[in-house]
Amino acid sequence: MKITSYNIKNFRQIEYMKMLPEEVKQEIEIVSKVLPFKANNYVVDYLIDWNNYETDPCYILTFPNRHMLREEHYHKVEQAVKKGLPEDEITRIANKIRLSLNPHPAQQQSNIPKLDGEPLPGVQHKYQDIVLFFPTQGQTCHANCTFCFRWPQFVKDLDLQFSMKEIDQVIEYIRQHDHVHELLFTGGDPMIMSPRTIKKYIDKIFEADLKNLKTIRFGTKSLTWWPFVFLPNYNEEAQEMLDLFKQIVDGGLHLSIMAHFNHYQEMGNEAVKEAVRNIKATGAEIRTQSPLLKNINATPEIWSTMWEQQVHMGMVPYYMFIERETGPYEYFQVPLVEAYNIYTEAIKYSSSLAKTVTAPSMSAAKGKAQVMGIVENPVTGDKYFNIQYIRHRDASQTYKPFLMHFDEKATWIDQLKPVMHKIQLLKKQRQDQYISSR
Ligand code: SF4
Repeated sequence: MKITSYNIKNFRQIEYMKMLPEEVKQEIEIVSKVLPFKANNYVVDYLIDWNNYETDPCYILTFPNRHMLREEHYHKVEQAVKKGLPEDEITRIANKIRLSLNPHPAQQQSNIPKLDGEPLPGVQHKYQDIVLFFPTQGQTCHANCTFCFRWPQFVKDLDLQFSMKEIDQVIEYIRQHDHVHELLFTGGDPMIMSPRTIKKYIDKIFEADLKNLKTIRFGTKSLTWWPFVFLPNYNEEAQEMLDLFKQIVDGGLHLSIMAHFNHYQEMGNEAVKEAVRNIKATGAEIRTQSPLLKNINATPEIWSTMWEQQVHMGMVPYYMFIERETGPYEYFQVPLVEAYNIYTEAIKYSSSLAKTVTAPSMSAAKGKAQVMGIVENPVTGDKYFNIQYIRHRDASQTYKPFLMHFDEKATWIDQLKPVMHKIQLLKKQRQDQYISSR
């Protein structure tokens, strides 16, 4: 199978585009000035139900629409295009909007570590046992997800990318930090790299004989957006990729494929099933994750069906995330209370084997915060979110439940007020009373 990539310059050549209204195509062009767009022939031909494209999850995951930008932003770009402003002027307007979209949520830049006093621009080290590596050649994807939380990786003219090629420095960093046990290749999508490129990195890791490194992870959406990466009958490089996986496993490292599945519709066809079987035959594990996304997967039925199919195919459900506050998050974000209800309804009737999933979880500045429940004070009737960090920059702060005031509109942890807030207010009131009575 040969890949055909569609970008904003050639997407009108997609056969199905002919049946869409002109205004829809114009919206795609306008939004794509700000948010990166990319698709491929597999997604277009096999995953989207074009008869119901307006509500089809794979269409919405791939093709931007005007509601993914704030009204004022959309109008600004639309006006610029209609006036026929030069391309560099439109880019300047787009960049201003991009910078207002919180390009690096959760203070990711503060996770960049240093080696011998020099920053490693393609590495993040937030939790003590795992290092994230952004190889330069893997900072693109087979298709861009419209909700993407890593969208600045694809915006070349903003210079906001994390990336580097120098695996020697990453290896040295891991050697100097013996509590690092895992290395995650991430992006973009590292599975966009050729097996030969990945092998160069992996060979160096084995040559370095890092005693503390136990696990390699690859974060990828290729299983759903381009499963041919793992199908030797359709792609001549696929066998090399599978051999490389086997080399990692046989070399004594655990290999975990962190697969992005956003909807069960992505998993239905034989190509994905065969790709999963081929990966598992190498000895690698596949763990699955996705954000909870309004307009895509915000019902318990979608999640329970997705987990059920993943378990049936031999994958391990791993995370249900809350959509991060970046890019078009207002279009996709679900309030925490709704996220919690969707999760509990979905997990209640799922197989025990699907209960491996941790949810709903926010990748916040301090760590991964999980909403564990909503509790009510039986006397006052006040409600609270019960939250815990399952990962924290400071490992000693994990698994310590704490209460935050309930807010039915809140979509992120920093919108919640800590329970201490009321006590602090009371204290302040008493102090004020004391001062005024003197
Ligand atoms: S696969 Fe991941 S990095 Fe790539 S576009 Fe989708 S969300 Fe973004």
